[in-house]
Amino acid sequence: MTPDLMEAGAQMLAAHRSKTASVVDGGEVYFGQGVALYVEEITVSFDGFRALNKLSLTIDVGELRCIIGPNGAGKTTMMDCITGKTRPDSGTVFFGSNIDLLRLSEPQIAQAGVGRKFQKPTVYEQLSVFENLELALKADRRVRAALFHRLSGEQLDRIAEVLVLIHLKDEARRTAGLLSHGQKQWLEIGMLLMQDPKLLLLDEPVAGMTDEETERTAELFLTLEGQHSLVVVEHDMKFVDQLTQGRKKVTVLHEGSVLAEGLLSEVQANEKVVEVYLGR
Ligand code: ADP
Ligand code: MG
Repeated sequence: MTPDLMEAGAQMLAAHRSKTASVVDGGEVYFGQGVALYVEEITVSFDGFRALNKLSLTIDVGELRCIIGPNGAGKTTMMDCITGKTRPDSGTVFFGSNIDLLRLSEPQIAQAGVGRKFQKPTVYEQLSVFENLELALKADRRVRAALFHRLSGEQLDRIAEVLVLIHLKDEARRTAGLLSHGQKQWLEIGMLLMQDPKLLLLDEPVAGMTDEETERTAELFLTLEGQHSLVVVEHDMKFVDQLTQGRKKVTVLHEGSVLAEGLLSEVQANEKVVEVYLGR
């Protein structure tokens, strides 16, 4: 092998190592600086159209942040970038202060502790509520070895705990396909929780829910706040109001970047926000 080729090979190996280092080497996410998610100037273009335009955003550890904005603002695309589904053309996305998410694959990002809930619930309809949670637990790498073993006491406790959290304790043996739309959404959130994600991304979680289900979902998210960091995209202002409790910051997205950030009452009074989103 020529020295040039060896040099090139060494460089490729080094690049590969730095790409996979954080998660593959067992590196845990580091939250010591209080930041759960750091997004800096990400841009995403689809055929020349900028779905995200230098979007920047920071979520603190344990924070519950609501993101609002008109259809097409780039909210879902932002989540796609955080979870590795879409690669931005430029910019930076860090989980904690040490994990560069743009270097990781979708499964590696999930494994690192980023959970995502899509708009449509995707539960196993033929299985019971309990079995759905059990399966979600076993899909976890760390317990994959236990796939053919009985659940440990600790795992049973965790399932019981999540069943209470998601208001499905009395439905544990019920076939998931028979649940209401709202209950299916909760079950899917429960399945996410089985993996104990540090950061949860929820895209329009109360769409199609009844008022009562919406209120209970807000209660659930408020319970999760602190132990997890949550990013919630939602159009339902009553829900956002319940989540922010008059004291938390919301972010308004418009045309792929942050239009405004502040208390709900502040952004609702912001003229630019009223014009593009809330209507006059
Ligand atoms: P939001 O979730 O805020 O409603 P999206 O992130 O779904 O907005 O979309 C932002 C913009 O990017 C929209 O104009 C949408 O049509 C466009 N877009 C999203 N995904 C794609 C894609 N895969 N190909 C082309 N355009 C896309
Ligand atoms: Mg969307």
